[in-house]
Amino acid sequence: MSRSQVQRMSRLMAKTLREEPADAETLSHKLLVRAGYVRRSSAGIWTWLPLGKRVLENVTRIVREEMDAFGAQEVLLPALLPKEAYEASGRYEEYGDLLFRLRDRRDGEYLLAPTHEEVFTQVVQDQCTSYKDLPVVLYQIQTKYRDEARPRSGVLRGREFLMKDSYSFDTTDEGLAASYALHRGAYQAIFARLGLDYRIVSAVSGAMGGSVSEEFLAPAAAGEDTFADCPACDYAANTEAVRFTAAVTAAEAPGPVEELDTPGTPTIEALAAHLGVPASATLKNLLVKVDGEIVAVGVPGDREVDLGKLGEHLAPAGVELVTAEDFAGRPDLVRGYVGPQGLGIRYIADPRVAPGTAWVTGANKPDTHARDVVCGRDFEVDDYLDVVVAEPGDPCPDCGAGLTLDRAIEVGHIFQLGRKYADVFKLDVLGQDGKPVRVTMGSYGLGVSRVVAAIAEQTADAQGLCWPREVAPADVHVVAAGKAAQTELALDAAEQLAARGLRVLVDERAGVSPGVKFTDAELIGVPAILVAGRRAGEGVVELKDRRTGKREELTVAEAVAALT
Ligand code: ATP
Ligand code: MG
Ligand code: MG
Ligand code: MG
Repeated sequence: MSRSQVQRMSRLMAKTLREEPADAETLSHKLLVRAGYVRRSSAGIWTWLPLGKRVLENVTRIVREEMDAFGAQEVLLPALLPKEAYEASGRYEEYGDLLFRLRDRRDGEYLLAPTHEEVFTQVVQDQCTSYKDLPVVLYQIQTKYRDEARPRSGVLRGREFLMKDSYSFDTTDEGLAASYALHRGAYQAIFARLGLDYRIVSAVSGAMGGSVSEEFLAPAAAGEDTFADCPACDYAANTEAVRFTAAVTAAEAPGPVEELDTPGTPTIEALAAHLGVPASATLKNLLVKVDGEIVAVGVPGDREVDLGKLGEHLAPAGVELVTAEDFAGRPDLVRGYVGPQGLGIRYIADPRVAPGTAWVTGANKPDTHARDVVCGRDFEVDDYLDVVVAEPGDPCPDCGAGLTLDRAIEVGHIFQLGRKYADVFKLDVLGQDGKPVRVTMGSYGLGVSRVVAAIAEQTADAQGLCWPREVAPADVHVVAAGKAAQTELALDAAEQLAARGLRVLVDERAGVSPGVKFTDAELIGVPAILVAGRRAGEGVVELKDRRTGKREELTVAEAVAALT
C-alpha cells in the first residue's frame, strides 16, 4: 500500500490459522505461517504474502538506505550464470551438492548463484582500469539459491532466499580495511534500526592465515550457530572459529611412534572427492573411529562438513563418527562441540593436557595414522593460537573468565577476502606509477529474508508476532468491534491516521466476532492496536500498545495525535 492508504482486512489476502503448521519447528516459522505472512511453496522455497512482503520490503529499504549512505552503489547481476567463472575459481566443484545446476537448450551448463564473488570480480575487471576508478563498493539485493541439506526453520534457512551481498575493491590493504570498516558500521546501523539484538563475533580463528572475518549473530533459541561470549570482556566468537590450534614443530629425533596401518580410513583425496572440494584445500583434523579405535583424519578446511553424510559414506569402510561417549575419561582427546549436525572435532590436542600425553594423529601418509605421538618428545608446541570451546565455563582467550555458550542466528557475515578472486581472474588496475596493481577485495553478506524471521524470533510473545515499528507491515491496526457505529468510527479513525501518513490496517470484517479480530490483531503483531468498541457511540476508542499491553481510552483526535 502506498503510505497514505488504508488496507481493509476484508480485502487483505492473509488467512490466519489457529493451528500450527505440522512441520514447523521454530517460533518464527509457526507464527509467520499462522499470521499469513508466508506460505510454503516447496521445501525451503517460500511465497511472501502481502503482510510478509511489506516486512521484507521494509528490511530491504533499511538495508538499501544504509548501504547508499556510505557510497555503495546498487547493481543487479543475474542469478542464472554460466558455470565457467565458478569453474575458474574452483567453486563449481567445491560447492558440491549445495549448488543448483542446470542446462540450457544447447546443453550449456549453468548454475543458480549461491553468492557472487566471481561475477562481481569480472564486472569490475570490465569497468575499472585505473587506480582512480577505485575504491568501489557494489551491492545488490537479490535472490540466492543454495540447495541446503536441511531447509528447515521456515525462511530462516531457505533454498531460495533474499540476500544483500556487496563487494569492495581496493588497491591497498589499508583501503580494504577501510571498506571493511564502512560495512561494519553500516551493519551496526542496519541491525540497530531493525531492532535486532545482535553480537559481532569473529568468524575465523586467528590461525586461518590473517584473513579478517566477522559474523553478526542474533541470539535466539532457533539459531543454528553456537557462539562463545565472555561476560567479563568483549570477546565473542563463533564456536566454529574458537578453535584451538597449535603451531607445532616436529622433533629432530622423534621417539618410537607406532604407525597404524588403517586402510579403512579414507585418504584425504577420497574424502575431498566425496566432499566435492579440491584435495589441495587446507586440512583440519576430524576424529573418527576405525574398528572402535579413535583416529584423526584430515578434513578439507574452510568447509562445513555434513557429519551425517560423512558417516554414511564412511560406514561401509568400518569407520564411525565419534560420539560424546567416546570422550568420557579421555583427557588426551580434545573435547568437541555439539553443533547442529552432530559432534565435531577440529584439532589435535588441548593446551590443558600435560606434555607427555600420547595422542593419535595423522601420519601424513596415505592409509596411515600414528599412535602414541608424544607432545614434547615427538614435537614441540610452539604456540597455542586459540582455545577450544567445548563447554560453558571454558576460559576466555582474552581474559580467562568463564565463557558462556549461546545459540544464535547468523544474520550477516563480513569478510576481507584479499586477492583470492583477483588472482583467479587477474584483476589488475593501473597504479599511480603506471604499473599494474592487483586489486584486493572484501565480500559482505546480509540475509534479508532471514532477518525477517530473526526479528520475529526475538520479538514474538505468547500472543504472536510483535514487530518493531520500522519493520512492521503497518503502523496501526484499527479494529471495529462489529456494530455499525463501531465500524463507522473505525473507518473514520483509519482515514484520519492515513491522512497523517501512517500505514493503517483496518479490520472491518463483517460476521467475524470481536474476539477473533482481537486475536488476529495480536497474532499479526502491528505495534499499535486501536479498537472502536464499547464507547464508540461517544467517539471514544481504545489504544493498545501491542508490546506492553498498555491500554488507554482516548477520543479519535487524541489517538491520532498520540500515534503521529
Ligand atoms: P549459514 O552458516 O547459516 O549456512 P552461511 O555462512 O552459509 O550461513 P554466508 O555465505 O555467509 O552464509 O551468506 C551471507 C548471509 O546470507 C548469511 O550471514 C545469512 O544471513 C544469509 N544466508 C545464508 N544462507 C541462507 C539461507 N539458506 N537462507 C536464508 N539466509 C541465508
Ligand atoms: Mg551455509
Ligand atoms: Mg555460517
Ligand atoms: Mg557465513
